[in-house]
Amino acid sequence: MNSPLSGWPVRLVAVLVALVAAGAAGCGAAIAPAADEASRLTLDDFRGGAAACYDRVRQPHTAVVDTHLHFRPFGGPAVPFEEVVDYLEATGVLFANVYGIGQMLPAASSCTYYLDCPGTPVIPTLRNDFVNAANYLTKTPPGMHLTLSMTFPDLAQPESVLEGIEILDTEYPGLFRWMGEVNLVKQAQFANDHEPVPAAAIAEWTPFMDLLRERNIPLAIHSDLGNDEEPTRYVPLMEEVLGLYPENAIVWVHMGLSRELTTMDAAQHVELLESLLERHPNLLLDISWRVLDDAYFSQPEARAAYIPLLNRYSDRILPGTDFLASRDKDLEVYRTELDITSRILGYLDDEAFRNIALGENYFRLLDLDFTAPRICPAAGAAQ
Ligand SMILES: [Zn+2]
Repeated sequence: MNSPLSGWPVRLVAVLVALVAAGAAGCGAAIAPAADEASRLTLDDFRGGAAACYDRVRQPHTAVVDTHLHFRPFGGPAVPFEEVVDYLEATGVLFANVYGIGQMLPAASSCTYYLDCPGTPVIPTLRNDFVNAANYLTKTPPGMHLTLSMTFPDLAQPESVLEGIEILDTEYPGLFRWMGEVNLVKQAQFANDHEPVPAAAIAEWTPFMDLLRERNIPLAIHSDLGNDEEPTRYVPLMEEVLGLYPENAIVWVHMGLSRELTTMDAAQHVELLESLLERHPNLLLDISWRVLDDAYFSQPEARAAYIPLLNRYSDRILPGTDFLASRDKDLEVYRTELDITSRILGYLDDEAFRNIALGENYFRLLDLDFTAPRICPAAGAAQ
């Protein structure tokens, strides 16, 4: 967009446009209201000391940490790394996991999304992890904290996981601090040659699970709970993992939900999650992906079932968008997904909001030298 203001410092232009337009300008990205802008946090607000408290009435309900963010697509062109980082800066996200994608379409395929190409195999690969590592080293801005994740593992081929870690260790020693999202069972990819990981293979994970534990690296697993016909069909697979590796920090992404499971009884789901959380103290739940809000959190009755769980186990919950950086996406898509996946956070009590939305769980899990700001006493949850 060319305008008489071309060449002016961007920040000044933004302020002027905000003052003149005082609302949606209709050209380019929406501009946050002035109050929002002034209350935007920086990494310094998480470095302890005399940080101001977080005012939930005045400040955004959106999470400052995105623990589930795919910087790489299944295939086709990607949104450039620096542009994804711009999205985070524009929306107040200061901390993020740099996921690749746990499986890719063949390099020669013209397909960008596996669902559009049934019959084309999607296969775990190291490709994305290498691209992300190179970008992470040169393109992480100073005001942001990114955590690089290994997304290559094929959980059905346990012997290949340690090999892959060794390759990454050689090229990028000490850089990868997370593993996932990796697939245990993902029904959406059944038409692309993916099958549930056999229970027998899970027993052979010990060498790499030992290594992850030694390095304090969490493992984020996509494991569909089931589908609308059989809501708990695949729960034994997750139980197997949790039973065999009780000392590993395991993140169950999307709480097991998916597009194949949109009609489960919320109370039944909550009961199952509660039972697992009670029995497995190192289990965490990732509440990423808009499907959770679309199918469950947006419905008052279902929401009422989930809120007490999220409050009670608030030190075990991680937020995320599940944004996938294929080139057909832009800032508005990211902003929308952040907003939708964060809506539920507005209903949480203050302690849960601080643990989940302001990153306290994330810092504790990764032993990061950050502390979430405390919540201002006068603030009340929008309940
Ligand atoms: Zn994902």
